Amino acid sequence: MSFQRIWRLKDILLDLVGIRCKDCGYTCYPPKAACPKCSSRNIERIALGSVGKIVSYTVVNVPIEGFENMSPLVIALVETSNGKVLTQLTNVKPEEVRLGMEVEATIRRSAMTLDGYVPYIVKFKPKES
Ligand SMILES: [Zn+2]
Repeated sequence: MSFQRIWRLKDILLDLVGIRCKDCGYTCYPPKAACPKCSSRNIERIALGSVGKIVSYTVVNVPIEGFENMSPLVIALVETSNGKVLTQLTNVKPEEVRLGMEVEATIRRSAMTLDGYVPYIVKFKPKES
């Protein structure tokens, strides 16, 4: 997604709109056309929210090709008020990350794609008080 497009959509993107299955209750982010758990199309869009707490994380010291300049990568499972999101953390050193740390969604550059395009994506950073 280009920077201009993501900037226009940033309030929606930062609300982390996903889906909740009305049949089995499964919550999924990003949104899909059908429930990944039971394949039902009886779904509703829900906002997971832009703030949450880290419930698990890992540090990737040897990233895949293209992500070398982002090493070490901190990948976290963040629990928001409406679900859980697997995300990359930014603006924090690996040794500063703690379980229960409050974080908030932000928009940052990702690694360059094979065709030279630099996408912007949602990541999480420590919550500013
Ligand atoms: Zn379902």
